Amino acid sequence: MNDMTTGRTRSRQLRRSINDVARVIGVINAGSSSLKFAFYEGGRPIISGHVDGLGSRPAAKASGQEGEALEPPNLGTMPPATPSEVLPMLLPWAKETLGGRRLAALGHRVVQGGMRHTKHERVTPQLLAELETLIPLAPLHQPHNLAAIRTALALNPALPQVACFDTAFHRSVPEVAQVFALPQKWHDEGVRRYGFHGLSCEYVASVLPEQAPEIADGRVVVAHLGNGASLCALKARNSIASTMGFTVLDGLPMGTRCGDLDPGVILHLLQHKGMSVDAVEDLLYRQSGMLGLSGTSSDFRDLLSCKDQRAQFAIEVFCYQTIRHIGSLAAALGGLDGIVFTAGVGENSAPIRAAICRGCLWIGLELDEAANRRHGPRISIVSSRVAAYVIKSDENAIIARHTQALCDVG
Ligand code: ADP
Repeated sequence: MNDMTTGRTRSRQLRRSINDVARVIGVINAGSSSLKFAFYEGGRPIISGHVDGLGSRPAAKASGQEGEALEPPNLGTMPPATPSEVLPMLLPWAKETLGGRRLAALGHRVVQGGMRHTKHERVTPQLLAELETLIPLAPLHQPHNLAAIRTALALNPALPQVACFDTAFHRSVPEVAQVFALPQKWHDEGVRRYGFHGLSCEYVASVLPEQAPEIADGRVVVAHLGNGASLCALKARNSIASTMGFTVLDGLPMGTRCGDLDPGVILHLLQHKGMSVDAVEDLLYRQSGMLGLSGTSSDFRDLLSCKDQRAQFAIEVFCYQTIRHIGSLAAALGGLDGIVFTAGVGENSAPIRAAICRGCLWIGLELDEAANRRHGPRISIVSSRVAAYVIKSDENAIIARHTQALCDVG
C-alpha cells in the first residue's frame, strides 16, 4: 500500500468515526407559558420533557427513553419568565445528558407560516424576517416560537435549525374552502382560513397506511381533541378543510377558547358593553370554551369527574359542536370513510368518543363499545360503514423527521 492510499484510508476511517458519533435531533415547542422539548436519535425519542408555569412558577420535568424520570434542567435562582429564556439552561443540560452524542440540528414548531409556506423550511435570516411579519396573525404564539429560534441561533450560530409550520399541511385546502366572504382585497392581504394543528394531522396522515389501511386513501376526518381542538378533512391523506380558521379561535369550543362565534358578538361587546380590545381578547382566548361554560375548569378530566350540571353541560356542548362539524366536513368530503380520534381527549376519553360516535350513527358509524373502552385502535364494529380509530398523535416525531431530512442528518 503506498502513502497516498494509506492517507485516503485514514481519512475515510476518520470521516466514518466522526459520522459514527451518534447524531441527535432536538425538537422545541415554545408555547405561551411552556416549552416542550425532545431529543431524537435514529427517529426515536431518547429524552423528552417540558418546562411549564413560565411567568408564574416555572417547573421542569424530563424523562428518558423508557419513560424513566431524569434530573431536569436546573432553572437557577433567576427562573426563566419566557420560553426562550429556558434555552440557555436547556441546551447545556442536553449536551451533558446526551453524553457522547452530538446535537446535529434543532427543529421548531412555528404556529403560522402564512400563505407562501407550503412546506417546512430550514431557518435563514430571510425566513426569520418574513416570519416576523406574520406576528399580527398569531400574536399570542408566533413571538414565542420565533424568540426560541433567535435565542438558539445566538447560543449556537452553527447549529442548523428548521421551522415546522402548523399551517403548512393545510395549504392543500382549495381556495373555495380558504376564503371568507369578505371583499377580495382582504383575502389577498392574508385574511383567510389557514387551519392549524397541521403537524398533528400530518403525523396522523403519515401513519394511516400502517395503522388504518382500509381508510388511508379515502375520506377521513381527523379529530384532534385536546386543550386546543380542531377537525381536519383528509382526502387521500391531503387536507381539504379544517375547522380552524384565521386564528386558533375558530371551530370547536376548546379548553378556554370560544370556537365558532358570530362576529356580531364582538362588535356588540366593543360597541355596547364598554369592553376594551384587550378584554375581548382575554375573553375569547382565556375565559371561554369549557372554562366559560362550566364556570369551574378548562380541563376535560376535571369536568368528566365533576357531577355539577354546568360541567356536564359544557361537555355536552363540546360533543354537540364536534358532531355538527363532522357533518360539515363529511359534506365537504362528499362522504366519509373514517374518523380518527387523537390528542389528549381524543386518545384518552372513552365517554367523549362514545358520545361523538353515537351522534355519527346517522352517517354510518357504529361504535364497538368494548373496543372503545380499551382505547382501540379500531373502535367501530367490523360491519360499520364508517370506521373509527384512536391514533396517538406525535407532533415532535414529525418535526424531528423533517429536521433530519432538511438538514441532511443521516
Ligand atoms: P394541548 O392542546 O395542551 O396539547 P392535550 O392534547 O394534551 O392538550 O389535551 C389536554 C386535555 O386532555 C386536557 O383537558 C385533559 O384533561 C384531557 N385528558 C387527558 N387525559 C384524559 C382522560 N383520560 N380523560 C379525559 N380527558 C383527558
